[in-house]
Amino acid sequence: MRLTTFGQCIQITFFPGVFPVNCYLVKEDDGATLIDTAFPSSANAIQQAAGSLGLSISRILLTHGHGDHVGALDQLRRALPTAEIMISERDSRLLSGDTSLDAGESQAKIKGDIKTCQTKPTHFLKDGDRIGSLQVISCPGHTPGHVAFLDERDGTLIAGDAFQTHGGIAVSGTLRPLFPFPALATWHKSTALESAKRLRALRPTQLAVGHGRVLNDPLDAIDRAIERGERNLRRSM
Ligand SMILES: [Zn+2]
Repeated sequence: MRLTTFGQCIQITFFPGVFPVNCYLVKEDDGATLIDTAFPSSANAIQQAAGSLGLSISRILLTHGHGDHVGALDQLRRALPTAEIMISERDSRLLSGDTSLDAGESQAKIKGDIKTCQTKPTHFLKDGDRIGSLQVISCPGHTPGHVAFLDERDGTLIAGDAFQTHGGIAVSGTLRPLFPFPALATWHKSTALESAKRLRALRPTQLAVGHGRVLNDPLDAIDRAIERGERNLRRSM
């Protein structure tokens, strides 16, 4: 496990060499917000990391419903019975194992590891919500209900799997041979590209993702990733 501090956040990385999976502690006046929960085996390490930094976890926000992001949710729920648990209403269905599609959605199959959780969210996240210092940004594509979080104090964007930086920066759905897993788990590529442009328009100062290191001043890299994504999408049409 590796801890990396940036802005008001701490990135916690599991398996940094092989299959890096990140979750984040965001400092707030009332303790810490945990974004994503990595694997089922990660619960103790997440709590120990928070404890070593003198932070108590007040709430858990989930970017999306894949197993490597909600893995330790049930264990953390038991350990933190008063913590609020928040995910988009759309991706909350994945937590209960429901991968059905709505009539108005692209009928592409929802991919990736869907891990059924016993924990029920206490709130649903909606675009534009403000949770502590974080603004909720709807960015579907990787999953139908994916969200990102913009720290309004310094412009840090915690983007979940809307982008990856391990194996080269990419918009979700653009396959990077050195780390292809986020692309292989992506529900709908063109929706993911539209969401990437929406996130770019926020002009984030730092980009923090589910898989890979934090990028400072990421706008040029994001532009390259969007161009690459558009080229790939044109080729596949
Ligand atoms: Zn994912």
